[in-house]
Amino acid sequence: MSMYKDLAPTPRTIMTPGPVEVDPRVLRAMSFPILGQFDPEFTALMNETMSMLRQLFRTGNEWAFPVDGTSRSGLEAVLVGLIEPGDKVLVPIYGRFGHLLAEIAGRCGAEVITIEKEWGFVFSREELELAVKQHRPAVVAVVHGETSTGRLQPLEGLGALCHELGALLVVDAVATIGGVRLDTDHLMLDAVIGGTQKCLSVPAGMAPLTYNDRAAAKLLRRKKIERGLAADDADDDPLLRPIQSNYLDLSQLQDYWSPARLNHHTEATSMLYALREGLRLVLEEGLEERFARHLLHEKALIAGLEAMGLLLFGDPGCKMPVVTCIMIPDGVDGESVRAMLLEQFGIEIASSFGPLKGKIWRIGAMGYSCSKRNVLLTLGALEAVLLRHGFEPHRACAVQAAMDVYAAEAAAAEAAAEADVTP
Ligand SMILES: *Cc1c(COP(=O)(O)O)cnc(C)c1O
Repeated sequence: MSMYKDLAPTPRTIMTPGPVEVDPRVLRAMSFPILGQFDPEFTALMNETMSMLRQLFRTGNEWAFPVDGTSRSGLEAVLVGLIEPGDKVLVPIYGRFGHLLAEIAGRCGAEVITIEKEWGFVFSREELELAVKQHRPAVVAVVHGETSTGRLQPLEGLGALCHELGALLVVDAVATIGGVRLDTDHLMLDAVIGGTQKCLSVPAGMAPLTYNDRAAAKLLRRKKIERGLAADDADDDPLLRPIQSNYLDLSQLQDYWSPARLNHHTEATSMLYALREGLRLVLEEGLEERFARHLLHEKALIAGLEAMGLLLFGDPGCKMPVVTCIMIPDGVDGESVRAMLLEQFGIEIASSFGPLKGKIWRIGAMGYSCSKRNVLLTLGALEAVLLRHGFEPHRACAVQAAMDVYAAEAAAAEAAAEADVTP
């Protein structure tokens, strides 16, 4: 008899900024039989996924496909492809993931220039524009939604300026894609990387991304076909500065995602099924409707937290709708609260990193996890757990305040529906 028991993970209510709960339809998609990666039935699914990704990113770009690996692999693929050693790369940092972009750019051999904001705030349009004008970088890399601090960086105007000055603009939209509005073409973003395990509610393991012709031109200049695949094994061009990564070489990956179907890695079949089903769910719901859903649950969650007497962290003017950061009250052990929420209620919330470690909790309300049920359960459980930790919340207020938000929304929807039918 085996000493290892059957796999039986406890169902959890996951209210973190990822990974989040996955729609049962996506889990079901992952259990279907494997297809070969050049099987026409499979390549048709690849093409459909590309077409749905274009809608998700709101772009007419030819290139929109996933890289196999977590979101970080998408960030690395874009940066290692677009940064030639010695290139100046500007990274505005306002939290942990900005530091990650700078760190990856450094490893790509860039001359990295950073500007930093205190955690909890974002850059003004003027500050970003000034930095680009002053440093004239080849690449600007910035985070759209910074999960470590729960802030959202507005990007209006930055794309146009980068185009004017010849810089490529790369955006980490891992935590926002599918939950918060981001219009790739309208904002003139050259490359955008999304995440699966956040607002798309697909397991971690793929990084959907898109890039335009300006970015593709730079990749193409650095393109190197592997020996054994090229038609003739001509000597390598000595002037070529090839992309340093083989696995994350977008110039080769895009050939696998094109009709050429160049052989590269083995596609992660079950993950592609999952991503395709996750995208189908997003488009069925509608992007606008999905953004509105995230805003509604954010509103109810904030109403409940504030009614309890808790304080939110960060500048409210740039709050990210899908992540809510709470100041841990004085004298309360934040980790003990998180542990009790998990053990007693099966609810997971997050802590934070670096300067915010031990200071804030982060509640994510993303994708399939972003629901009335989860918000109400989390508020009720948090009140109970805080009482057990000696913090006196305004008792029995939190869930009521959130229910008021839902009731007001339902009434408004009903009134709108009535107005629609009255001639
Ligand atoms: C989660 C996250 C990442 C990293 O994603 P992985 O899937 O863990 O590699 C990068 N950027 C942001 C803004 C994130 O929230």
